[in-house]
Amino acid sequence: MEEILKHDELSIEKSRPGRRGIRFAAVQKHAAQYLPAQYLRSAAPRLPELGEFETVRHFTRLSQLNYCLDGQFYPLGSCTMKYNPKAYDALSALPGFTQAHPFAPESAVQGTLEMLYRLQELLKEVTGLAAFTLQPAAGAQGELTGILTARAYHDARKDFKRTEVIVPDTAHGTNPATANMAGYTVVNIQSAPDGCVDKEALKNALSERTAVVMLTVPNTVGLFEKDIREIADMVHKAGALFYMDGANFNALIGAAKPADFGADLMHLNLHKTFAAPHGGGGPGSGPVGAAAHVAPFLPKPMVELKNGKYTLSGKMPKSLGKMKAFFGNIAVCLRGYCYLRQFDGRTLKEVAENAVLNANYVRAALKGRFNAYFDAVCMHECVLSLNPAEMNGVHASDVAKRLLDYGFYAPTIYFPLIVPEAMMIEPTETESKEMLDAFISAMEKIYAEIQSEPQTVKDAPHGQCVSRIDEVSAARQPNLRW
Ligand SMILES: *Cc1c(COP(=O)(O)O)cnc(C)c1O
Repeated sequence: MEEILKHDELSIEKSRPGRRGIRFAAVQKHAAQYLPAQYLRSAAPRLPELGEFETVRHFTRLSQLNYCLDGQFYPLGSCTMKYNPKAYDALSALPGFTQAHPFAPESAVQGTLEMLYRLQELLKEVTGLAAFTLQPAAGAQGELTGILTARAYHDARKDFKRTEVIVPDTAHGTNPATANMAGYTVVNIQSAPDGCVDKEALKNALSERTAVVMLTVPNTVGLFEKDIREIADMVHKAGALFYMDGANFNALIGAAKPADFGADLMHLNLHKTFAAPHGGGGPGSGPVGAAAHVAPFLPKPMVELKNGKYTLSGKMPKSLGKMKAFFGNIAVCLRGYCYLRQFDGRTLKEVAENAVLNANYVRAALKGRFNAYFDAVCMHECVLSLNPAEMNGVHASDVAKRLLDYGFYAPTIYFPLIVPEAMMIEPTETESKEMLDAFISAMEKIYAEIQSEPQTVKDAPHGQCVSRIDEVSAARQPNLRW
């Protein structure tokens, strides 16, 4: 059937003269009544001529060419979309929110302001921090906001000699990039053999030049910094601030509050943990929270509740200013708000417990075939490292491509950089045991193939319309035509 009907034809190739869908004869006949003559077409537009069903099927088929979370398991580590309920998409599309003009007077957008205010309060609650700005439009912009807030804090104390930001090698790549962009010198420190911060190395790097220490928690090898309280104390003793990258807060939410282990600043990714889909470049939201001593330096305005009215407060004399026009990405904030209202303290903790349990279930099940690089209980994701001695010349990229044949999206590979032949798997809190078992079983089959017929894995994928591509030419001389 696939072949007979030529599904792969472009709409222009399927076109037949005179074929069309609904025709509103009356409108055509009287068009001149509605539009001045100079605006009417003299010739028909050169569009494909297709029947109604052909058109529907054409676009439906195109929409299904993408591998997507609504269709399949998506174990991409680090930046995965977690829980994305459709109901929140509908709520965030309510006209009261989408049709509000950014310059509308506060009295006309009390509902929007109330939602933002309540979200600020809930984020304070789950992190223990004193204040939150909802302005940043992404995680990376949240980081920049946090680092600029830290600079405003140090500047206000006339502590101008702090020019360095310390970043361990297990940080997300955006951390050193942010520090660099904010004009700081990035001081990289290597991790200890257990994948956590090397406290000796940190001690040696800390000085009166340190402005901020940025830690990704959990770090990019999926581990919780077990000495985080002690690390925070070291940072504070040196007069620096502790910035926590909390993009993957589903590992901790409801179970731990960063303020309790000494975070001065942190960002959250609403478009990862808090129910907003991401992909295609946005929109996102990376709210930044601050402890009380740093909060006055956050961007302004913030939403406040005064005499029963929600209002944008511009009265923050120490604020670093604005990071984004208007209020932030309202629709993303709204999804995050709905998400936090869906749970209570107990069920929110279950989110973190299930995220951690699922990752460890996969890690433990694959042990002995594909081992975790750091043999320890992980958080929301597990990082495997293929042992070349057992792989018959098969690499992580080959395993990733073979997974496509079994109907699974490939996990993140070759990241984090400090893990050789890395495969980073984040099942997320929402997958069932049956789905995890199916994934594990596919990985087991691939392991058996590596031992008995490695070429099958090296030549994968076998079931896609394109198999191995020349990746260098694809990047250097892309052919963008069908
Ligand atoms: C995704 C991610 C970021 C960056 O967030 P963006 O919204 O893509 O800018 C930063 N840190 C960590 C740990 C992340 O997973």
